[in-house]
Amino acid sequence: MSTGRMRAVRMTHWGGPPVLTEVARPTTRADEVLIRVEAAGVCRSDLHVLDARPGALPYRTPFTLGHEVAGRVAERGPGATGPAVGERVVVYGPWGCGLCSRCAAGAENYCDRRAELDAVRTGTGVGLGRDGGMADFLLVPSGRLLVPVGDLPAAQAAPLSDAGLTAYHAVAGIRPTLPLDGDGDGDGDGDGDGDGRDSGGGGGGGGASVAVIGVGGLGHLAVQILRATTSAQVLAVDVREEALSLADACGAQFGTLLRPDTAEVLRRRAGGGVGVDAVLDFVGSHSSLELAVGALRSGGELAVVGSGGGELTVRKPGALPPGVRISLPFWGTRPELEEVVALARKGVVRVETEEFALSSAPDAIDRLRSGHTRGRTVLVPD
Ligand code: NAD
Ligand code: ZN
Ligand code: ZN
Repeated sequence: MSTGRMRAVRMTHWGGPPVLTEVARPTTRADEVLIRVEAAGVCRSDLHVLDARPGALPYRTPFTLGHEVAGRVAERGPGATGPAVGERVVVYGPWGCGLCSRCAAGAENYCDRRAELDAVRTGTGVGLGRDGGMADFLLVPSGRLLVPVGDLPAAQAAPLSDAGLTAYHAVAGIRPTLPLDGDGDGDGDGDGDGDGRDSGGGGGGGGASVAVIGVGGLGHLAVQILRATTSAQVLAVDVREEALSLADACGAQFGTLLRPDTAEVLRRRAGGGVGVDAVLDFVGSHSSLELAVGALRSGGELAVVGSGGGELTVRKPGALPPGVRISLPFWGTRPELEEVVALARKGVVRVETEEFALSSAPDAIDRLRSGHTRGRTVLVPD
């Protein structure tokens, strides 16, 4: 790397592979803050972006990927606020207008001026249309987008800014709807028929139950956050045994592979066959949505987090159980990022990571695509 240059993993054209290249190292002006990157997570959304058809996303290429970033403040513009040079931070990724009422409340993920920003193609946030953190340095537009992490290891901190934050926000959305004392029969049979992995401790238990579909980067943190912040029984579903063993390690009381009868298995496990109180779908495909609808209780809650291209028909009367509420949580708020960082610093949430050197980013991204990742893939400097 020559002076004034840095490495970056770039999205250069739609449908093409990520490109490891050299670009100019940014310098700060006005409110901007330069971060020396210590870790950058790889998200399945990076694959969705790389694979997108031209025109499908309101971003202009090329730009540097990486929307989960932790590092150290290296330089501050003359008007910069927030963390000082040398402080270790995680980057709050959804970059809104910073001025509307949503942004003022720290909910830049729901910025009221998103369409306006998209129209001028400034991108949804770090690494999503704007230059991101799969690089040696990252330029952040304002210190308001930084959350201090203290001595939390960078590979732990980076995934909190999307995998952790999005899972936390999704759980926060369903938490108030969960019954404190359910009316299931608490049969606790754990199925006993070999179609699931049962860790005991609950078995229907009469309390709330939440199904987590897809125990990858986001899902394994959702399991931990559910266990830490609710009393619900957590039922995990995946298509990989490896992911179920991770769900088990994260505290899920039950796990099962996706099979034709999985909806029925979840309903039974939830107690009384009435269905689960909530589903967090971290896949969002046709099969995961079909499972969610089949497993949900009347008046239940469905949060569709994954962008797997599945569709649901909303019609009354129709296939959806009566009273079901559907939400489409997107990322999370800045205060929620502070809360999830606090949970991690207390050791309540721990990211399962697979670390790769920044220079191996294309291989690391391929590995996520091949479906062999346990937890979160994180790129670290080399
Ligand atoms: P990941 O690849 O780490 O995890 C996905 C998991 O789902 C894997 O364990 C996989 O085996 C499992 N899976 C795949 N198909 C399945 C099926 N039909 N049934 C059950 N399990 C299945 O992905 P990730 O990085 O955790 O991202 C998950 C999804 O969430 C992606 O679609 C991503 O784009 C999306 N996402 C959304 C937001 C948001 O704000 N809404 C934020 C980040 C990621
Ligand atoms: Zn993401
Ligand atoms: Zn805004």
